[in-house]
Amino acid sequence: MEDSVVVIDGDWIVAVGRGGEVEPPEGAELIDASGLTVLPGLIDAHTHFLSMGVRMMRFVDLSGTSSIPEAVDLVAERLKATPRGEWVVGRGWDDSKWEERRYITKEDLDPLFPEHPIALTRVCGHLITVNSRALELAGITRETHDPPGGKIDRGADGEPIGVLRDARRLIEKAIPPISEEVWLEGLKKACDHALSLGCTGVHDAGLDAFGLRMYQAALDQGLLKVRAYTMLRGDASIRGAADLGLQTGFGNEMLRLGSAKFLIDGSLGARTAALFEPYEDDPETKGLPRMEPEELNEKVKAAHASGLQVAIHAIGDRGIELAINAIDEALREAPRKDHRHRIEHCEILTSGQIERIRELGIVASMQPNFVGEWSGPGGLYEARLGGRRLRQNNPYRLLLDEGVRVAFGSDSMPFNPLYGIWSAVNHPIRQSRISLEEAVKCYTLDSAYASFEEDLKGSVEPGKLADITILDGNITELPAEDIRNVPVYMTLVNGKIMYKKR
Ligand SMILES: [Zn+2]
Repeated sequence: MEDSVVVIDGDWIVAVGRGGEVEPPEGAELIDASGLTVLPGLIDAHTHFLSMGVRMMRFVDLSGTSSIPEAVDLVAERLKATPRGEWVVGRGWDDSKWEERRYITKEDLDPLFPEHPIALTRVCGHLITVNSRALELAGITRETHDPPGGKIDRGADGEPIGVLRDARRLIEKAIPPISEEVWLEGLKKACDHALSLGCTGVHDAGLDAFGLRMYQAALDQGLLKVRAYTMLRGDASIRGAADLGLQTGFGNEMLRLGSAKFLIDGSLGARTAALFEPYEDDPETKGLPRMEPEELNEKVKAAHASGLQVAIHAIGDRGIELAINAIDEALREAPRKDHRHRIEHCEILTSGQIERIRELGIVASMQPNFVGEWSGPGGLYEARLGGRRLRQNNPYRLLLDEGVRVAFGSDSMPFNPLYGIWSAVNHPIRQSRISLEEAVKCYTLDSAYASFEEDLKGSVEPGKLADITILDGNITELPAEDIRNVPVYMTLVNGKIMYKKR
């Protein structure tokens, strides 16, 4: 709105209107946003915020590398400052952006790194490459069985090649734990990073008791500067919450208990997302469901019955089918009107599934930055799925036209709401594009809806929390391609300026 005035009192927005109709109260501090864009605070509905912080502290950042030698060089650089024999961990490599177009294996690492254990996680988090020293410390040999829902890749001789798909636990247990101080310092860094990108709230998509404790400690110590909605991961945590009678919504405006999170498949990058038909670039596999449909159904039913919102990670069309079926069954058994159960990622959709998602009232929690990263010609979606199924990826237009609630997040790949908004508006599949206003709504009001908080936040209206993002320019007047280049000018949470561009 031109010449609008937003009046904030304490934590809340108390009036919004045209200049002349609404006047700022006497003595109010004025922020002049003329020529700028005032948006509701952006809410990332699916991110791994706590881990992102630790990554910023400890992990070698391999995103942006364009070849295996380039990634290896970054690891070698870190090694120089790492005491002999200690772990070097890295994250963010993406074979679809590498010249070699293949996973890195232990063969790439062993000659250079014989002494230090190395673990390099792919951008998606579903595949880790380790060297021989790490395999040794983790006790992984040719005799080790594949874990349920995961896979240890092996060479012709049966020896592990250092590529582990959806088998993170096998390695993580061998890596010395990170201290609470580092976790908290990381969370603080993650909050500052989020605020600098205009983000005022996150849904952390997978926490156990330790993770929740870290958030509570951050809240107590005044380090939690963005709002967090938490998803519980792991049978023990979910059962524990249910046993205590803790339900979705418990907590306060800064830190709230969210959903029970389950995973039915992996990722397209790791070729573990569950598809109906084989992978285009590996006809041997249709992906790797993490559990039997019956098991998922039981877990979803139990969480639903205990009053928790359910969030199911499902990426491939077959994974999504299983997720919809599980929610459908739970609702048949115990109908609940306003459940807002969610499918996380929800990437490769058939039109029948879109209809069922709408009918059942499922929230599609999606990451538009994925299309910016991987949906273009020759990108990951095309490589894994081929031309016909490429068109099924992230069909925002169809979903919105059908009336499905779509909440946007980033999955921290990369964490950047404005890049996500840009990606949705410029979707490489033209018929899947949505408007700027729609993309902003998915990243604000619909993300708030996905946490049952649309009455509290997600729009600039009287009676809502004063979470506001101001962009340094008028994005509505820019060509669509330029949206991502507009810097954030200011970010307010609870009516306080938490970030200001220098
Ligand atoms: Zn995730």
